[in-house]
Amino acid sequence: MTIDLTGKVALVTGATRGIGRAIAVRLAEHKASIVSNSRGGDEAGAAKLAERYGVDVMSIAADVADPAEVSAMMQAVFKRFGRLDILVNNAGILRDGLIGMIRTEDIDATIGTNVGGTLNTIQAGARLMGRTGGSIVNLSSIMGVRGNAGQLVYCASKGAVLAATLAAAKELAAKKIRVNAIAPGFIETDFVAELPDDIRDARLASIAFGRAGSPEEVADVALFLASDLSRYVTGQVIGVDGGMVV
Ligand code: NDP
Repeated sequence: MTIDLTGKVALVTGATRGIGRAIAVRLAEHKASIVSNSRGGDEAGAAKLAERYGVDVMSIAADVADPAEVSAMMQAVFKRFGRLDILVNNAGILRDGLIGMIRTEDIDATIGTNVGGTLNTIQAGARLMGRTGGSIVNLSSIMGVRGNAGQLVYCASKGAVLAATLAAAKELAAKKIRVNAIAPGFIETDFVAELPDDIRDARLASIAFGRAGSPEEVADVALFLASDLSRYVTGQVIGVDGGMVV
């Protein structure tokens, strides 16, 4: 089966760089119209994507942690396209800290973006998607499945994304909306660029393939979950981690 997303509208949160950008590119390559979200928006990036792949691309600046901004974003999507078929909840932040040293503002920001952001977009997005059915893809993390020292809040947030995926999959199946999660391992993006060398080396040593993943390798799995190739798949978590967890 070839993947043709012509006529489909895909909203990718956190689409200006890293994994989100790679997912937006993959979906555009397969002819979906793209709504590219980040806090600041990226009109220039959206224009480039539209020109390169000949698809409609709309940039929307919205903080996914803010329900009012998410609601306004969905209204803008409805006004422009009248539908939503694919929602990729990718926006996320990482603030590591040892237990006892974690600042309350880091807890609030991480939970607000990673958990609140996912819940806000599922709520508002499912309403729009309920008209046609669709696919929701949530970016969790292998750390949300296995836990990790120094990442109490991040692990809690990504575990919550997994639980939300399962709950939403059960509730939204009746509306023909599939909900799945991707659990990446160690992917080369700005997100991990700041890691100290010793932590970076330890992470690489834990990967069976012996290398970090690329954003495009995550995007290929997102494309599968977004498309009809996975039409009988819901409530699943797919690890994309080069054998970090086997
Ligand atoms: P990056 O930091 O490279 O990109 C994050 C994107 O999210 C940016 O576009 C950023 O744009 C956007 N963003 C951040 N906060 C918000 C917000 N509140 N509202 C809207 N957009 C926001 O991250 P990655 O590409 O590495 O990670 C993407 C996802 O994958 C995250 O959920 C992360 O937890 C997950 N992941 C990544 C792994 C990795 O190894 N890289 C491993 C496991 C999971 P801006 O700042 O302009 O708003």
